[in-house]
Order: sequence, then structure tokens, then C-alpha cells
Amino acid sequence: MLSAMKQLVNIAHARNNKKLYKKIQEDKVCPFCVDFSKKRTSFQYHTKPAIVHGTHWVVTENLDPYKGTTHHFMFVHRKHIESFSQLKPKALTELVSIIKKLEKKFSLPAGVFLLRFGDTNYTGGSVTHLHAHFVLGVKKTKKNNDPLLLFAGYKKAGK
Ligand SMILES: [Zn+2]
Repeated sequence: MLSAMKQLVNIAHARNNKKLYKKIQEDKVCPFCVDFSKKRTSFQYHTKPAIVHGTHWVVTENLDPYKGTTHHFMFVHRKHIESFSQLKPKALTELVSIIKKLEKKFSLPAGVFLLRFGDTNYTGGSVTHLHAHFVLGVKKTKKNNDPLLLFAGYKKAGK
């Protein structure tokens, strides 16, 4: 059981839908934990269906895709962990296998994988439960030079 005092979401980093984050905070529930003891098979707040049900990961589409993405998948670690060092090697092996499947299923020519971990005040993450973003924009053309930006924390002052 998670401690009620533990920070599960960081509203400061919610891009949109701050009301939902506020509710999650008030409910004191991790939005990415699924309580299988209550026969729940899906996330309580996240309403997109799971695309992949792995042993270590559940993959779904992001509720609020980053602007300009053609695909925005979210990899949620099944067990509530918060740091990269808590990952089991088998979870990394499965991650590679799932990405290969997604590349094939959606004919992805490329992808960007962002995995934040640890203190969200450094990473800019909005949920502490370990999860990752797998996104793809469009190909660069002469007319399209607009970068697809992912938030990866804060710059050191003066740089
Ligand atoms: Zn959790």
C-alpha cells in the first residue's frame, strides 16, 4: 500500500486537465496503479485502452498526446516503481520486444523514447509511477522545420 503522504502526481507539470490531476491528488491514488485485488483490469483515470498487456508493461495511447505527434504511446510499468534502478533486466528485455512489435504494427519508420525517473521536480514528469513516452512526429521537409519538443526537466542557470 502506498503512503498517503507520498507525492504521486505533480500538478505543476500537468500540461492540461489540471482538474483531473487535482482529483487524483485528493483521492490519494496512483493513477497508474491497477489494483488487481479489486478485479480492476484497467487504469482508474486513464480511459484509453491498453494496446499491449505485457508481463512488466502496459502500453496505451496518451490521453493528451504531445502537440504535433502522429503517435504517442505510453509505457506504464505494471508494478509501482519510481526509479530506473528498480527496473528488472527482464522488464528491459520486454521493453525492446514491445517496441519491435509497435514498430511493425504501426509501420513506424522511427521513434523517440523518453523515460523520466525519480524526483519529478527535476524531470518535469507529472506522475511519479515509472512510465515512458514513445512518440513520433512527421518527417522533416523544406516546408516543415518545426521541432517536436519533449519536456525533459529544467536547465541549469546561465546555460
Ligand atoms: Zn503507481
